[in-house]
Amino acid sequence: MSNRLNREIETPAEKQNRHKAMEAITVLNTLKESFKEPPKAMGYFYDLFEEVYCHQKALHSDKVKVGTMCIQIPSEIIYALDGVPIRLCNGFYTDDEIGSDLLPQKSCPLVKASVGHLASKNITDRPDMIYSPTTCDQKTKAGSTIEGFGYDVVDVDFPRTKESEISREFFRRSIRGFSADLSAKTGKKLSRKKLRASISKIGYAQSLYHQLSELRKSSAVPILGNDMFLVTNAFFFDRIDSWIEATEALVEELEQRAKEKVHAAGRVSPRIVYTGSPPIFPNYKIPLIIEESDAIIVADETCSSNRMFNDRVAVDEWFVNDMIDSLADKYLKACTCPVFTKNDDRIRRIIELVKSHNADGVIYQAFAGCTVYELEQRSVLEAMEKEGISILYIESDYSPSQHGQLSTRVEAFVESLKIKNRKRR
Ligand code: SF4
Ligand code: SF4
Repeated sequence: MSNRLNREIETPAEKQNRHKAMEAITVLNTLKESFKEPPKAMGYFYDLFEEVYCHQKALHSDKVKVGTMCIQIPSEIIYALDGVPIRLCNGFYTDDEIGSDLLPQKSCPLVKASVGHLASKNITDRPDMIYSPTTCDQKTKAGSTIEGFGYDVVDVDFPRTKESEISREFFRRSIRGFSADLSAKTGKKLSRKKLRASISKIGYAQSLYHQLSELRKSSAVPILGNDMFLVTNAFFFDRIDSWIEATEALVEELEQRAKEKVHAAGRVSPRIVYTGSPPIFPNYKIPLIIEESDAIIVADETCSSNRMFNDRVAVDEWFVNDMIDSLADKYLKACTCPVFTKNDDRIRRIIELVKSHNADGVIYQAFAGCTVYELEQRSVLEAMEKEGISILYIESDYSPSQHGQLSTRVEAFVESLKIKNRKRR
């Protein structure tokens, strides 16, 4: 009896950490144990996610931590001002449930989870300030909710068209404003030398991603799509030099695997291009169902992976103002988020990826509540149909409850692709 009374009561933060650790470890164990042997170099990434999400290890206690609410904030500028970018897009169901008490039930789970995470104040690498691009309505409104929790949140104006010169100039000004604001807050001056160096470092990180992507084009694909999501999600928060080193080791090992024709999936596993609302650790619900259904994700068009590493910055003159403008141009033009009025670029890119990676079909996930991805599915479906590309559209959220129904749909789609392939042979 006395033992029971003496037992310490778990605090809400401890409970949140325990639930998040359970979510994280379930996914990590699945990746490590449920598929063919993962590349040895993936060990770095599995350990990183375990340390951060199961043991709350802080990675940046010595740095100014710059929270970003979306992909559109140039990390090159943050690094050049001696800060570290931390993308706050969140994939935990535990945090989604906390956010559900603060936002409408129908909101996108990614936004609810990001808000829930920040509301809990239970954050290892707490951002010193947050930059929130005015992209989709929910992200935009989430900024002011988060401000209410005591964070310094700065809106970064983002246009809703990208073809016009007005939009481009608008975003250039916006990024100049962001850069000046961060420079004032950190008390650092943006120097030509540092900005050039960080553009080149991020460019190198992109080139590593492209090497991995090239290896996934061959008939024997040396890495699973879920492992690739882990690598690209680590870029959200890892120490950049450690990420680069670990990814170099991965490239080297995968090149060896490619020579030995090691295929991460089965002999007849259909090849999938994944698109839509971003898979963010540990919400790999749909990607895991796909690869557990004997398909393999060979490429993706999402803002938590491929889209982060597309298109390099093209600089005319290596002066600070020119570099800032070039970064703004790159971040806007390369963005294929459905927030834009038109999004022919995204359709073009999906078709390109299907062709370059010899894919058998496309799986398009939209988070329930994400109006823009839901709205855009029709035009993507029509375009794929025109090209004769099989596509499956799925709506999902972060809850573990719909698993059975979703896997039935994915398995049926994968089976139909196998039948199609058999007929073709
Ligand atoms: S889906 Fe669009 S708005 Fe949302 S995080 Fe990704 S790029 Fe940003
Ligand atoms: S998934 Fe949709 S609603 Fe959620 S952040 Fe991205 S664009 Fe916005």
